[in-house]
Amino acid sequence: MANHVSESRHVTAAKRIGKEVAAPNARSVDRDSRFPREALDALREARLLSAFVPKDLGGLGCGMIELSQMCEALGQHCSSTAMVFAMHQIQVASIVRHAGSSGFFRNFLSELVEKQNLIASVTSEAGVGGEMRNSVCAVESQGDRFKLDKDATTISYGAHADELLVTARRSTDAPANDQSLVLVRKADYTLEVNGVWDTLGMRGTCSPPFKLRSTGRMDQVLEAGFADIAAHTMVPFSHVLWANCWLGIATAAVSKARAFVRSAARAKPGTTPPSALRLAEVAGMLQSLRANVHDVAAECEQLMSAPDAGTEVLSSIAFALKMNNVKVSTSTTLADIVQRCLLICGIMGYKNDSKFSIGLYLRDALSAALMVNNDRIYATNASMLLVLKDD
Ligand SMILES: Cc1cc2nc3c(=O)[nH]c(=O)nc-3n(C[C@H](O)[C@H](O)[C@H](O)COP(=O)(O)OP(=O)(O)OC[C@H]3O[C@@H](n4cnc5c(N)ncnc54)[C@H](O)[C@@H]3O)c2cc1C
Repeated sequence: MANHVSESRHVTAAKRIGKEVAAPNARSVDRDSRFPREALDALREARLLSAFVPKDLGGLGCGMIELSQMCEALGQHCSSTAMVFAMHQIQVASIVRHAGSSGFFRNFLSELVEKQNLIASVTSEAGVGGEMRNSVCAVESQGDRFKLDKDATTISYGAHADELLVTARRSTDAPANDQSLVLVRKADYTLEVNGVWDTLGMRGTCSPPFKLRSTGRMDQVLEAGFADIAAHTMVPFSHVLWANCWLGIATAAVSKARAFVRSAARAKPGTTPPSALRLAEVAGMLQSLRANVHDVAAECEQLMSAPDAGTEVLSSIAFALKMNNVKVSTSTTLADIVQRCLLICGIMGYKNDSKFSIGLYLRDALSAALMVNNDRIYATNASMLLVLKDD
């Protein structure tokens, strides 16, 4: 990973966990479609689940760039670990950046630092699919308490989470796009598993459908509307951190292709293997992918740490388009890069038992276009482009 600034000790810790803990377990996580418990335990031990919590609440006070570097480092060794870590950080960022002066959420974040609790995301829902900005379910307030039930189509690590962050209509009479974001706590919810997670890739995210039944206190509903939380935090953090996980996968696949070409060169000293040309091509693609992902992470961090928190830019159509473009382009480029690495490694890349195997990278990479379907994002961008004013 090429860094222009010196690496923080938290990123170094994530790299070590990736190499020493996530990597040796990645095969069994994939084969058994099991939660990457060892890596998550190690991340907890290094206090990285509270990486984004501000220092005055006991967290590490990391920004988006450091989180990105951690996702990239983990993604090189186990995509499921990286994705679970990324999804948790997106939830933490949504709370940190939108809790305002809420006493409940300040206490919650201090508890998160102490216990290193894992937060899962519940946005997808039967009836609206991956359309995050619409909900069927609603917050049913009853005095100072609420009831919230949701038929969720996918909850990653739902069975392993300590808390859930759930989108819902603000009230029973609110329209589908007038949503709130609600924290529901382990003691107050039940999840009834409603299917299986036997997928092509990202098997360790353990993301089956669940029926959620929950209750809580009204102060667990974030005061800011979900429209602002999504635009200012959840979408940029999702697209940037996911892209960094994917950059990690692409980096690992290209490393494997490079090792294959080197071993072919060693077998015939004095000649350049024909696959070296393809390697040169894919190395250039990886460089562009990395530049794009690093650039957008740096831009987001700069915007979000500006005195006005970048609110005007974060709310703009141009910024929303840029974030969506990052998601669509990185997910597409990732699959392209990994497929080219497969061509370079040939049959040795196709075999599951070979040291040059590319299969797991390819299967994991194919989820990227579906984690919010790229066609859905293109459709949104198409509408926004119609009203975008020229620079
Ligand atoms: C590894 C992984 C982990 C995930 N984890 C979670 C999680 O933790 N929590 C969570 O809530 N969700 C999670 N999801 C779900 C994800 O965010 C999406 O909700 C889900 O992948 C969308 O599924 P879909 O493509 O079938 O649905 P849809 O997005 O509904 O798309 C279905 C089809 O309809 C088309 N389509 C629908 N609407 C439009 C439109 N307006 N314009 C153009 N085409 C359209 C799409 O192109 C597609 O062909 C996860 C998904 C993956 C792959």
